[in-house]
Amino acid sequence: MIDIRKLLMQYNIRPSRIKGQHFLINEAVLDRIVDYANIDGKVVLEIGCGVGNLTKKLLEKADRVIGVEIDPRLVSILTQEIKSDHFELIHGDILKIDMPEFEKVVANIPYSISTPLTFRILEKEFHDGVLMYQKEYAKRMVADHTDKWYGRLSAVLKAFAHVEILEYVPKTCFYPVPKVDSAIVRIKPVPDIFPAHKDFFFSMVRELFGQRRKKLKNSILHFLRVYGLDMESSTKIAGRVFEIMDIKDKRVEEISVEELVELCDTVYDFLQEKGVR
Ligand code: SAH
Repeated sequence: MIDIRKLLMQYNIRPSRIKGQHFLINEAVLDRIVDYANIDGKVVLEIGCGVGNLTKKLLEKADRVIGVEIDPRLVSILTQEIKSDHFELIHGDILKIDMPEFEKVVANIPYSISTPLTFRILEKEFHDGVLMYQKEYAKRMVADHTDKWYGRLSAVLKAFAHVEILEYVPKTCFYPVPKVDSAIVRIKPVPDIFPAHKDFFFSMVRELFGQRRKKLKNSILHFLRVYGLDMESSTKIAGRVFEIMDIKDKRVEEISVEELVELCDTVYDFLQEKGVR
């Protein structure tokens, strides 16, 4: 176990002043993260370097590590602790900085921004990522439409990437010990099931999952009305969609992600034909 407390005290930082952040102190887990990520000779992005536990290990294998850290006290520790020409540190907020180019992303992330952070990463082109999330959140990420954890997060993520839980990590591997357990997740972008119209897909999925208990014949009508169509046009478009796809009596949470992507792209095409888009 790495003694973070001692390190922080050396820099005159009282550990209780670093609020809401949990450092990964278990060496074996840190080593496995680096192994999973397969980073030999690659450019790696690390989000939230903390005091550099993972960063140091990444630097042993990667060609270059670009770290992002928001907390000025930790930035100061990192610049003193890590002297490597292969390390570039960006002091800033991962949700606000200009995203750098990278091949792999490896990080024990701040859980409070799991969703915006994940979508920020997915806007970039990269090979794959190995990231630590809160355990229940990770279960929602990987869930299938046949699974009770399935929801909007699972659907949207799966439309852009393969996601897989590599292992669960107990809370005792962190300092200070958090209330929740964690999980290491691999994310690999897969362009072949990208929806053709990304923003439209996002907004339609949001509406459909907002009505997740309704059958699609009703929730799609609702979506089209919200979208600004009159009842007649909405009914016509919905009718044409259900001629192609036999899903009208299912709920959005009962169809696969492939079907969901096809559904949204089909509705988009019909709207475009009508000159609505
Ligand atoms: N990776 C380290 C620290 C994990 S704690 C370890 O495993 O030990 C999460 C880290 O993310 C903290 O260092 C925190 O300061 C940083 N952080 C929190 N919000 C951030 C943001 N918006 N942008 C960049 N870093 C952030």
